[in-house]
Amino acid sequence: MSSAVETAFEQQFGRPPVFVSKAPGRIEFIGNHTDYNGGEVLGAAVDRFLRVAVAPREDSKVQFASEGNPEVVAFADAQSALDRASGWVKYPLGVLALLAREGIQPQDGFDFFVTSEIPAGAGLSSSAAFELASSIAFEALAGKELDRLERVRLCRRAENEVVGVPCGILDQGVSGFGEAGRLVHIDCSSETIETVEGPEHTRLWIFESGKKHNLVDSMYAERNRECCEAFDLLKKRYQRIQFLVDVTPEELMAAQGDLPEKVFLRARHIIEEHLRVQESVRLLAKGDLKGVGELLCASHWSSSRYFENSIEELDTLVELLSASNGVYGARLTGGGFGGAVMALCTESFSDEDAKAVADQYAAKYDHDPRFRGMAIAEGAGRVL
Ligand code: ADP
Ligand code: MG
Repeated sequence: MSSAVETAFEQQFGRPPVFVSKAPGRIEFIGNHTDYNGGEVLGAAVDRFLRVAVAPREDSKVQFASEGNPEVVAFADAQSALDRASGWVKYPLGVLALLAREGIQPQDGFDFFVTSEIPAGAGLSSSAAFELASSIAFEALAGKELDRLERVRLCRRAENEVVGVPCGILDQGVSGFGEAGRLVHIDCSSETIETVEGPEHTRLWIFESGKKHNLVDSMYAERNRECCEAFDLLKKRYQRIQFLVDVTPEELMAAQGDLPEKVFLRARHIIEEHLRVQESVRLLAKGDLKGVGELLCASHWSSSRYFENSIEELDTLVELLSASNGVYGARLTGGGFGGAVMALCTESFSDEDAKAVADQYAAKYDHDPRFRGMAIAEGAGRVL
């Protein structure tokens, strides 16, 4: 049976695709702003996939289509595509450009179709899934295959350098390395990636606040600067440190007088959050989901009080979820200053339970939050 992307490809281009790839969306499970501080982070690939179908052409033409965009974006050849890329085709073309630098190139032109179950801009990183699925498809067209970690790094560079979004390795790492029922554990200081025991008999739920701070990029940059300032000041006292997370909580307390108050609070969040990730891995291995849930909530309130990257709406969602049956814990997920809350729930937490939370939120903010429950799924790969 052919999949939706194969049917869509065939309808668009009048012949079946030759290769099909897919990549999942991802959730930041715990590890908030730890990535650029050399810390650890845990992520979950979820059962919402973006799929790419391709077929080589006999001429040099390069054509892109997406089910969401009726117009086919066509170029005379790959070089002119790379020179003129703009809009959504930047995601696959960024990957194509970086693969070419590695000597991995489709021989001729190609047709390309993308379909997706991952809502864009909803905190599930559709962009990373788009890059990974594109890379796998282009590698197939070129008759070469990258090692998984190389692919993840290349896709991250494409997002950083071509799209211009300074994301960490979490998005691509989790979409690339996901395994059903397991979480992806990334040490951002060495960029090593492994999977660990996931929470059994659970579902992950995402609630979108529908709010976004209008200064989110500059707020993010400010937090980044404050963390750098904390590191520089702490390095004077603790010369051995290479990253902010190398400072222990006791050392931070001893150095409190060296730091402006806000900078101290930011450092406290990062240093404790890094330890919460490590503790989560230990508790997951023991199957202590109650303990993991407590860490998720602690992560949220640390974000809210110390890192100040929450907003009232996210705090409300976490409070409502914490008071619901079948919820182990909840926290803001991703950069913050708006966006979404993730909850770790029992399998019996139902759509009606989620609706009850959403209704209470709607009563307070006059906005129906979108929500969805997801299972922890396998990472990116070839389908055909
Ligand atoms: P996210 O948090 O989902 O990663 P981004 O803004 O980083 O949000 O990436 C979303 C962008 O990725 C969209 O604006 C679009 O350009 C591109 N994209 C994602 N999915 C698709 C798709 N199915 N078809 C075309 N473009 C897509
Ligand atoms: Mg993105």
